[in-house]
Amino acid sequence: MTTTAPVPPLEMIEPASPGPWPADAWRRELARAVTDVGELLDLLALSAEQVDAARGTGFALRAPRPYIARMRRGDPRDPLLRQVLPTARESQSVPGYGVDPLRESSAVIDAGLLRKYAGRALLIAAGACAVNCRYCFRRHFPYAEHRQGADFPALEAVRRDAAIKEVILSGGDPLMLRDARFAALVRGIAGIDHVRRIRIHTRLPVVLPQRVTAALLELLASVPQRVVIVLHFNHGNEIDGDCVRALAALGRFTLLNQSVLLRGVNDDADTLAELSERLFAAGVLPYYLHLPDAVAGTAHFDLSETQAKALHRRMGALLPGYLNPRLVREMPGLEAKELLSASGP
Ligand SMILES: *Cc1c(COP(=O)(O)O)cnc(C)c1O
Ligand code: SF4
Repeated sequence: MTTTAPVPPLEMIEPASPGPWPADAWRRELARAVTDVGELLDLLALSAEQVDAARGTGFALRAPRPYIARMRRGDPRDPLLRQVLPTARESQSVPGYGVDPLRESSAVIDAGLLRKYAGRALLIAAGACAVNCRYCFRRHFPYAEHRQGADFPALEAVRRDAAIKEVILSGGDPLMLRDARFAALVRGIAGIDHVRRIRIHTRLPVVLPQRVTAALLELLASVPQRVVIVLHFNHGNEIDGDCVRALAALGRFTLLNQSVLLRGVNDDADTLAELSERLFAAGVLPYYLHLPDAVAGTAHFDLSETQAKALHRRMGALLPGYLNPRLVREMPGLEAKELLSASGP
């Protein structure tokens, strides 16, 4: 009697679905994201006085419910809440804080395309995010001037310039694009021979892990270039079971994380060390820890350089070297992000 190898059932050879959620779950969650301060406070059993909440700061509240579900009810100091809740302090004007402190406007080489560093071009793929982070360095960015038409005209500049080895998809959040449009963008880049790496900067797998659909995984697996995904977690409490599942599904790509050092959110060595531990357990390497940029409306999140360096040195004493992110700050006009060493005062 002969035996033949069993044929795997179809679902086993299709890309693993990361979670129990259906393909359009993320769109539905986006549509019902919380945008009303009163509703957010009700969900968390908090009063406006407890949290210095404000309306009408010119940068709306926006937070998906799966992210809110990770906040602690009744805790006005919850580190996730502080990242999304508009407060009265945002309206204070503070000397030295402006709308374009990184002088990004001078890095624009074409509508939607920024070039600051050798070999890398950054494409503003979308003008919106699933979450509005209060400390956002692009909260005043003129997205309307950079909107891309159907065939992403900014790619023409990438095609013409063989020195561009890496295309960074940013925004806004590039994964806000629907699957068909995102696929058109990725395939457009995949077809440019001199581009070796496609990098995606995104916070969607953090705040809405349902975005990691089977179709997205299949698309990313189909491109010939290396795919690097730079996530944006700031606190260990942001990593829940759905995030872990989404990250596991993305496991064949290079997964890095960048955080922003934020007063009142994560300005503590133990907190950041725990974040690194949890990231690594989920398959992600810490990449950058950014000092906040001097963006109007965000001064209350700032730490001094001296405080940041001291904190980073304490992290170094708690973590293996490969789990301690590089402490950096962006200074306009430099040829790379400025590396702040942990030594010194
Ligand atoms: C931050 C940034 C990059 C990426 O810098 P890396 O050090 O490679 O992570 C690239 N382009 C622009 C415009 C940037 O702001
Ligand atoms: S996800 Fe990034 S770009 Fe979007 S609001 Fe947050 S910090 Fe800004």
